Amino acid sequence: MSVRLFPDDVLFFQRLLKSDGLYTGKLDGIWGAFTEKAANEFEAQADLLKTEIMEFDFRTERNIGTLALSAQKESRIFMKKIVAKGIKAKIISGSRTYADQNRLFRQGRGDNPGPIVTNAQGGRSNHNFGIAWDIGIFTETGGYITGGAAYDRAAEAGMGETIEWGGDWASFVDKPHYQLKLGVSLALIREKFETGEGFTLVA
Ligand SMILES: [Zn+2]
Repeated sequence: MSVRLFPDDVLFFQRLLKSDGLYTGKLDGIWGAFTEKAANEFEAQADLLKTEIMEFDFRTERNIGTLALSAQKESRIFMKKIVAKGIKAKIISGSRTYADQNRLFRQGRGDNPGPIVTNAQGGRSNHNFGIAWDIGIFTETGGYITGGAAYDRAAEAGMGETIEWGGDWASFVDKPHYQLKLGVSLALIREKFETGEGFTLVA
């Protein structure tokens, strides 16, 4: 019995599994034998990446586990390089379903409390396709560093040819944000994700 990721949104998990080439059934949102089989394979391959590259703290592991396998691999390589430089970073956000994204979008808008943290509605964030992660950097005593030079140092240590950094974006600078470098528009990524086609890395 595999762990059910995104238990409230089987369709989302099926899309993720299909984009990894693991799910061969219909995108019907129903947890059946094919979904179960693909989920088991997903877990096995994810475990292998953990063993081969490096294992991290609980929070980082939980978030990496929500990513497409290609992003799991890239985020682990990235984290390994950062940790080697002594930077106390964790991955504090991974994939979000469209519903999760919509909930986050409502925060700080209308009567909803909290600060506005995103401008993207469901299906409009790279976090909705299994390809993006956010890091948090912490002090020696565990205090959360919200921004500044520590995030530049992390990018310097961890960046590679296959990933894109939100700190390099011209329109909306997002220094905690990283994603697979796919070289195509968000609209095309969404289309591929929704139809279950795989993503091709720009290397
Ligand atoms: Zn992000």
